[in-house]
Amino acid sequence: MTQRREIAFLDLPRQRARLGEALTRRVDAVMAHCKFVLGPEVTELEERLAAYAGARHAIGVSSGTDALLAVLMGEGIGPGDAVFLPAFTYTATAEIVLLLGAVPVFVDVDARTFQIDPAHLEARIAATLRDGQWRPRAIIGVDLFGQPAPWDELKIIADRHKLTLVDDCAQAFGGSYKGRKLGREARATTLSFFPSKPLGGYGDGGAILTDDEGLASLYRSLRSHGEGQNRYDVQRIGLNARLDTLQAAVLLAKLDAFDAELARREAIARAYDAGLPEIIQTPQRVAGAQSAWAIYSILLPTMALRDSLQSWLKAHGIPSVVYYPKPLHRQPAYASYHNNEIPLPVSEKLGEIILSLPLHPELTDDEVRYIIDTTLEWSKERKT
Ligand SMILES: *Cc1c(COP(=O)(O)O)cnc(C)c1O
Repeated sequence: MTQRREIAFLDLPRQRARLGEALTRRVDAVMAHCKFVLGPEVTELEERLAAYAGARHAIGVSSGTDALLAVLMGEGIGPGDAVFLPAFTYTATAEIVLLLGAVPVFVDVDARTFQIDPAHLEARIAATLRDGQWRPRAIIGVDLFGQPAPWDELKIIADRHKLTLVDDCAQAFGGSYKGRKLGREARATTLSFFPSKPLGGYGDGGAILTDDEGLASLYRSLRSHGEGQNRYDVQRIGLNARLDTLQAAVLLAKLDAFDAELARREAIARAYDAGLPEIIQTPQRVAGAQSAWAIYSILLPTMALRDSLQSWLKAHGIPSVVYYPKPLHRQPAYASYHNNEIPLPVSEKLGEIILSLPLHPELTDDEVRYIIDTTLEWSKERKT
């Protein structure tokens, strides 16, 4: 039996210590100039983010949720409209649709990659068109857990039905699809800098990436109360959804370390892939993709085994999380927007058998070894 350790699921104190002076200098600079709203760090970060993703424009906003909200507002989506999105995602993807008075149409996901299932998406669009109550307007593809959604297929479907394609890239900035960094697969790509995301700030934050100049200025207007030429020229209804200068300063320091962090995440994922016991199904890589490894999700054969492994890990000081125990269409807030005669079997099943292990750049090799060894002990114990 190996020596017991206490593992962190997300280790912000260690991260803060690693980033050290570089981060302090950035924050101190803001404290010196006191341009706390849309200060120079926001512009600098926007330029760096756009360059990183190869996108023409980046617009800093207050969160990943507000980024999605601004993008749908920019499309004029509202009452009578239907927006297609995966049932197996975080609530933010769907809640903004309802905030605008439109309805979410939940689509099932692939059992191995956990990404939206294009065949089911087609079926849901066809059924919505037949039904005639809602007008299909947009598809939100989610790059779940750090891997890309099937963008080539989504583009074909969006073109065929003249739907706006949006990339909810909250979990996957830094990842790539067919050799391209994520950020250009859709009309607009939304990012989140929530502390647990691969590029996480020290508070809330987000951004929108787009190649379209008109959209970029529309998003800049929407994030600042719909302003036009100046603050007191109100062109449209907007939001108070700007990215804080302080968060931009933190993110600039973090961006300098980002590629090294992504490489560390990949190395840990590979160690898990190679070391976990047979009974555990490790994540399937999306073909031609590089994951940003926001989350490393494994599958167990049954719910009882998943729960058994989770308790065993907990007893050994290893936290794990179930993303997501309940698909959105089963949540009280969304249940009335889904017809229960339409099964979403994969999304429903995944919540029973999925489990996410700690994966972040602060984990040491010894800690990764300890997590792997503890799962091996669990698997042996189970057999005896
Ligand atoms: C985190 C997340 C969001 C929302 O981002 P916030 O910055 O927390 O508002 C949206 N979509 C997905 C898939 C997410 O994981």
